[in-house]
Amino acid sequence: MKAVVYEAPWRVSVTDVPDARIERPTDVLVRITSTNICGSDLHMYEGRTDFEPGRWFGHENMGQVIEVGAGVDKVRVGDWVVLPFNIACGHCRNCERQLTNYCLTAQPEPSMAGAAYGFADMGPYGGGQADFLRVPWGDFNCLRLGEDAEERQTDYVMLSDIFPTGYHATEMAGVQPGDRTVIYGAGPVGLMAALSATIRGAGKVMVVDRHPDRLRLAESIGAIAIDDSKVDPVQAVLDQTMGLGADNGCECVGYQAHEPDGTEQPNLTMNRLVASVRFTGRIGTVGVFVPQDPGAGDELARQGKIAFDFGTFWFKGQHIGSGQAPVKRYNRQLRDLIAEGRAEPSFIVSHELPLDRAPEAYEHFDKRDDGWTKVVLHPAT
Ligand code: NAD
Ligand code: ZN
Repeated sequence: MKAVVYEAPWRVSVTDVPDARIERPTDVLVRITSTNICGSDLHMYEGRTDFEPGRWFGHENMGQVIEVGAGVDKVRVGDWVVLPFNIACGHCRNCERQLTNYCLTAQPEPSMAGAAYGFADMGPYGGGQADFLRVPWGDFNCLRLGEDAEERQTDYVMLSDIFPTGYHATEMAGVQPGDRTVIYGAGPVGLMAALSATIRGAGKVMVVDRHPDRLRLAESIGAIAIDDSKVDPVQAVLDQTMGLGADNGCECVGYQAHEPDGTEQPNLTMNRLVASVRFTGRIGTVGVFVPQDPGAGDELARQGKIAFDFGTFWFKGQHIGSGQAPVKRYNRQLRDLIAEGRAEPSFIVSHELPLDRAPEAYEHFDKRDDGWTKVVLHPAT
């Protein structure tokens, strides 16, 4: 089968890899119809991780079931399914507590957090930027979709990661009806956090970035766009909140945070959030802060030791939540919001391309070229 294979930093190819197949009785085999490129893929694409050349990408996947193992009894051939990026067994101590992002069975390395398809340090699993995907513990890891799945793929595929991830940021930030919420980052994740804050009834949603196309998308769902290449974003938030600061905030950038001139500063958004959020406010951090390989930033940042203004954070009595999203905790409810027409996460999709155009899509998305907000790839089979 064809897959998007990591060759070297900034180089992917669409080449033949061994066919995904049923390996265990609990596996499900899915023909992939839509698979996204994610900001998280770029950490591997840029060579900041130890993702091995020859492995293939893809953790935001949906498609149609074409085969089930002998031990699968809920999922049927022909079902349309979306696959949460967290691979989880469903019955370990963590899964039983809904912590499917920290499944103890799917991740063979106890020191590593969680398992995912096509990802560095998250188990040996193949990715879904390919014709087919093997889904372990298929009854647990497939979210079944309704009859409108095929024609609304660009909405439903967002349930695999970024819509629940954005929602998780707002959950950790404790967004309540009427709240004033600030979101740093208007990439796909930040835009999904903005959509989620709106769904939760926030009174005012402010989104900080410097890409006009992404800020326009934030405005298209009723958020206030703050362009930090033009204004001081902290002051802009204070101006919007009678000088009090936002009730809560979401970090949707991660260690690649930079100044508008391109200078990377891994603690930039955390410091600005601490300054933008009011006393006792909450901050949800879903942007990735992990030790990186060569990457940018100073030596401490490379080790994942990212200092931020903890003194002010402490003085203000703020709270923080962090980590990968437990996608399964939210994606059934978010699926039903999509099905009822109450959420259309596809508003961020800028490109739908055949799988074999992945190399150019990675290049544009990595450069955040104007208009390249979110790419959905469609395998040919
Ligand atoms: P992205 O890189 O497309 O978007 C990041 C955005 O942040 C860009 O638009 C960029 O201009 C903006 N930005 C950079 N510096 C900024 C600053 N100082 N202030 C404001 N905005 C700034 O990526 P994405 O797909 O939206 O993902 C965002 C982050 O979320 C990544 O770190 C990704 O790995 C992570 N992520 C986490 C989870 C999870 O489960 N926690 C899931 C998916 C993605
Ligand atoms: Zn993702």
